[in-house]
This record gives sequence, structure tokens and C-alpha cells, in this order.
Amino acid sequence: VVAAVDRALIVGGGIAGMSAAIMLRNAGVEVEIVERDPDWRVYGAGISITGATLRALAVLGVLEDVLKQGAGSDGYTIFSVDGRPISFINTPQLEEGIPGAGGVMRPALHDILSRRTLALGAKVRLGVSVQALAGGAQVQARFTDGSDGRYDLVIGADGIGSAVRRLAFPEAPEPYYTGQSCWRLLTDKPPEVTGRQFYLGGPVKVGLNPVSRDQMYMFMLEATPTPLRFDQPELVERLSQLLEGYGGALQQVRASIGPDAQIVHRPVEAVLAPPPWHRDGIVLIGDAAHATTPQLSSGAGMAVEDGIVLAEELQRASSRGGALEAFMERRFERCRMVVENSLQIGRLEKSGADPAMQAEVVERSLAALSLPY
Ligand SMILES: Cc1cc2nc3c(=O)[nH]c(=O)nc-3n(C[C@H](O)[C@H](O)[C@H](O)COP(=O)(O)OP(=O)(O)OC[C@H]3O[C@@H](n4cnc5c(N)ncnc54)[C@H](O)[C@@H]3O)c2cc1C
Repeated sequence: VVAAVDRALIVGGGIAGMSAAIMLRNAGVEVEIVERDPDWRVYGAGISITGATLRALAVLGVLEDVLKQGAGSDGYTIFSVDGRPISFINTPQLEEGIPGAGGVMRPALHDILSRRTLALGAKVRLGVSVQALAGGAQVQARFTDGSDGRYDLVIGADGIGSAVRRLAFPEAPEPYYTGQSCWRLLTDKPPEVTGRQFYLGGPVKVGLNPVSRDQMYMFMLEATPTPLRFDQPELVERLSQLLEGYGGALQQVRASIGPDAQIVHRPVEAVLAPPPWHRDGIVLIGDAAHATTPQLSSGAGMAVEDGIVLAEELQRASSRGGALEAFMERRFERCRMVVENSLQIGRLEKSGADPAMQAEVVERSLAALSLPY
């Protein structure tokens, strides 16, 4: 039971917002979510999840569903550009029954989390955002549909371009482009791809990740000094070109790219808001506070953990301010490490550094993330 907060508003119904909603509803807090997307949908790409992310999803009570719809395995195999296995990165085993790595389609994860959020009685208003916020003992919110509300706590879980961050923390830095673009392609999974694979040492960084029994997604990070945008025929042509010369399972992937290939291409951005991520009863979680580049596959995990820790500290503390201080104490260093080590790996990728140097940062970071949070 939470003493300091009876009623919370969550802005953004993504991974962070839904995780916070599930944990706060479990603690008996009245929860209202406002989500900008009238259809409450997420784009159709795969997402890689670490053992630490799976451990956090278990706390939400959704691990079984995620593993049923997605895929889990241990370790990462590193391949050379021509497709020879060159090393294996062990992923830490965190708890019995929790694989060291995995993957799932974003819409499947969204479906699992949103069903749970609704089943626990969170009120969800779609097609609505916040227009103004006034912090205080009670936070006043004005919404884009003209309505108003008062809450004991407002949680900004509205992603990298957070409106809450801009309203309540105008001095926080804006997201910036990191010099890489991320390509993702959904494709059939050949039986020999049983776990995560990375192809390092070439002009781009490429990986494969199973997301269900018979599907996988390929992700690729390409150094592009300025952000680029392409239409579908250009995406198909450029992706085929980038995969030229890659061996192993990537040869088959390249051959499968047709005009209707499901390709998602995004410029990669990052932002780390300076601490504290709270002010006058308004707190930022997930990408709104710490949007990372994808190198450690940990953005979603950090978003889930934020929701868990926030609810835990609200249950433990006698005051809202005390809970938010304790939240920061537990979250800042861990999330900073994910953002900064991911950026460091990105710099190594861009400079064509020895794959062993990249693998070392990945291994060290995953070991740190396996510790209790
Ligand atoms: C290219 C790329 C690849 C990635 N790959 C991985 C990966 O493999 N593994 C991993 O763990 N992480 C990955 N990430 C990171 C991961 O996607 C994010 O860390 C995670 O989605 C953060 O969740 P969130 O809920 O904080 O934000 P989001 O997922 O962005 O959700 C924000 C929600 O808020 C809503 N919203 C936005 N603005 C408003 C507003 N003003 N009012 C109301 N609602 C609003 C949005 O519609 C959305 O529903 C990747 C990121 C990128 C860019």
C-alpha cells in the first residue's frame, strides 16, 4: 500500500508507462494513462531483450507470455563478415528459468503489457496528451482535449521526444543524432539460427535475433554522418547493397529481400536528462529520462525496471519526495551506464574497432546489469 500517493497520472502508454501502471495498480494506486496515439499501437519491428530485461518482465508477471510468443536463448555467437563463428559471449544466468537473452516482436510485447494494464484497472485515455502541468503537493494537468485533472504524482513516460520533459524540465538537453542509422528487417528464421548472432568487423554491424519459433529479425547499424530517409524501393536496394559480401545466414537473408520486405529504418538518437528526474511531483521514466542507442539491447529493460523501482520506493517511503529521491538513487547510475556504454560501443563500431574491444564492453555491461537493481 502506498502512503504518499493515491492517484497517479502516467503520460505515455509505452513500455515504461505500462510497467509503471502495472506495478502501481498492484500497489493499490489509482492510475490514469494518457496516450497520444488514438490506436495505441507500436510499429512492427523485433526487439532484443537481455536476461536482465526478462527478469524485470517476470516481476510484472508477464515472463511466461513473453517467452511463449517470443524466443529465449543463452549467449551470443560472434561471426566474422564471411560467416565464420569466431567467439561466443556468455550471457549471465540471472535466475533459474530465465534465459540469458531473447527477442520478441514489439506488437506482441505491447499486446501482453496492455492487456495486463487494462486487466488491473488502469484507466487509459487514447488520443490525448498533456498541454500544461503545474507541479506542487497536487500536480495540476491540462489535457489536449480541454479537460483538467489533479494528481498526487505525474509520471512522464512519453519517450525520447517527451512533452513532460519539455514542460517540466525545460533546461534538460534535447535528444541528439548519434551518427548511426538502425536497419531492421523481419524475416523467416532458418532452423540453424537458434540464438542471437552478431557479425562484426565489417563496414556495418549486423545481428540476427529470433523473435518467435519461426521468425527472426535482422538489425544493422550503419554509420551515416547525417540522418537519412528512404522510400521502400530505396530501402530494399540499399539494404541489399549493405549486405553484400556477408556470409553465413546473412547470405540467405539477403537473397530473401524482395520489394515488399518489412524494413524499418531509423536514425539513432540519444538523450540523458541530468539528475534529478523529478520536480514538484513530476517524474520522468524510460526514454523520456534516458533514451539509449540500441547496442546493449537494454532500453526496454531500463524502462521496465524504472516502473518497478518507482512503485517499490513509493510503497517504502512515507513521503512522495523521499520516494522520488530513493528512486533516483537506484536508477541514475545504472541508466547512465547503459546510455554511455552503448554510445561507446557505437563509437567503436563507427571507427571499425577490433570486434574483441566491442565484445569486452558488451560483456562488462551485461555483467553489471545482471546485478540486483
Ligand atoms: C532503433 C532502435 C532500436 C532499439 N532496439 C532495442 C532493443 O532491441 N532492445 C531494447 O531493450 N531496447 C531497444 N530500443 C530502445 C527501446 O525501444 C526504448 O528504450 C523503449 O521503447 C522505451 O520505452 P518508453 O516507454 O520509455 O518509450 P516509448 O516506447 O517511446 O513509448 C512512449 C509512449 O508514449 C507515447 N507518447 C509520446 N508522446 C506523448 C505525449 N506527448 N502524450 C502522450 N503520449 C505520448 C507514445 O505514443 C508511446 O506509446 C531501441 C531503440 C531504437 C531507437
